[in-house]
Amino acid sequence: MLGAVVEVYPNKWPEGVEPNGAIAFVDRDGVLNIGSPNYINNPEELILLDGAAETIGDLKRLGFKICIVTNQSAIFRELWDEDRLHEIHSELSRIMLSIDSDAFVDLIITCPHRQFDRCSCRKPMPGMLYLGDQILRSNLVLPLKLNKNVPIPKVATNINWWKDKPKPVNTLDIMVGDRKSDLGAGWGFGTRLFKVRADIGIVEVKDRLLNPLDSGDVFQPVR
Ligand SMILES: [Mg+2]
Ligand SMILES: [Zn+2]
Repeated sequence: MLGAVVEVYPNKWPEGVEPNGAIAFVDRDGVLNIGSPNYINNPEELILLDGAAETIGDLKRLGFKICIVTNQSAIFRELWDEDRLHEIHSELSRIMLSIDSDAFVDLIITCPHRQFDRCSCRKPMPGMLYLGDQILRSNLVLPLKLNKNVPIPKVATNINWWKDKPKPVNTLDIMVGDRKSDLGAGWGFGTRLFKVRADIGIVEVKDRLLNPLDSGDVFQPVR
């Protein structure tokens, strides 16, 4: 059983804001920070995209929980380990909060596997979204700030890509990504889908994300 890396942050809300029950699932590279074909390998390589922190802050101010879901196969390629990942993510959080003090990230889930490991967390599989739902909206409590090899819920392996998009847990749930594989993962969990350009990132769809009437991009995984 191949599990995911899960980083849990304290449950913090902007002053006076009530959670709205929805989760914004957000890809990392090309959405929050500038991506690289050779991975982001250390905190020094992180460059935040303009407007990313403010967009996350706006989503928090509307009551969304934020869950980053990212494929980082460098870990199973043994280029670096989960502790390095955690350093990179601590820096990402620090930078975002320095720009917008409401830009808390609640949860970061990372698939550390390669394509041929055949896990159910690597996007376009929706496993990280099902796991994020379990942690943020059900009662799965993880003991550590940095948890390794956390099992993916079995239901995530039974997606029928040829049928209709699954019904969302919360109709406001969002998946934002710069690749088709991000949209596939969101589709498999039934969220609204938003594709962005990797050189612009999440700010490209900021107004749409904040609009509850925007049903997202049309996407069919196989048709
Ligand atoms: Mg990306
Ligand atoms: Zn995986």
